[in-house]
Amino acid sequence: MKSIEINRAAIMGGTFDPIHYGHLLAAERVREELNLDCIFFIPSGNPPHKDYDGMASSVHRYNMVECAVTSNPFFKILDIEAKRKGYSYTIDTVNQMIELLGSRCKLYFVIGADNAGDILNWKNAHELITKIEFIAVTRPGQWEEKLKYNVSVLRDEGCSIEVLQIPLVPVTSTEIRQRVKSNKSIRYLVPKEVREYIYTNNLYKS
Ligand code: ATP
Repeated sequence: MKSIEINRAAIMGGTFDPIHYGHLLAAERVREELNLDCIFFIPSGNPPHKDYDGMASSVHRYNMVECAVTSNPFFKILDIEAKRKGYSYTIDTVNQMIELLGSRCKLYFVIGADNAGDILNWKNAHELITKIEFIAVTRPGQWEEKLKYNVSVLRDEGCSIEVLQIPLVPVTSTEIRQRVKSNKSIRYLVPKEVREYIYTNNLYKS
């Protein structure tokens, strides 16, 4: 892969099934607070931790992220996980990103409060936490106490992790899928382009 000149960046990984305003606002706040040059949205290919009926294909999930991020010059989408065969693991993505950006680029990984407790279960977790700093963003729900606990466990293991308080956007991809299935509105939960993509491609109906 060709190197590109970016000095400070973050990875926003996720299933994005579909991408919604919670993801987008979190990314924008992280970019602004940490003064980043770029947020890389990397939709997962075949995530090892998620398996449910009706998951949109990685092509649809990638296309929806693309619709949602193109209007923001600081947001970029990468297909490195979507194209990967087999399960996609964060350690492989982080290694690929370090190769792409060069070791002088400061690289962060954005994670929602609900996921912070999982990091140590990820593949090659101890290698991963030495290679990248995590930014845990707050999320609606009963996460505050759990997040404090998870952050202290991670720090004890040598992980660099900071918590960033962001405005709470009470939306999940699960809720959006359920609302589409029950013919309910998803206006104001996802960008218009994503809503149209969902309807045009008849996603989440079955
Ligand atoms: P699902 O409902 O299918 O589990 P999700 O809404 O949690 O999906 P993901 O694609 O799994 O979406 O999330 C990608 C990342 O964004 C995760 O780290 C998750 O914690 C974070 N995230 C998701 N929704 C929000 C939100 N509303 N506010 C802050 N962070 C969020």
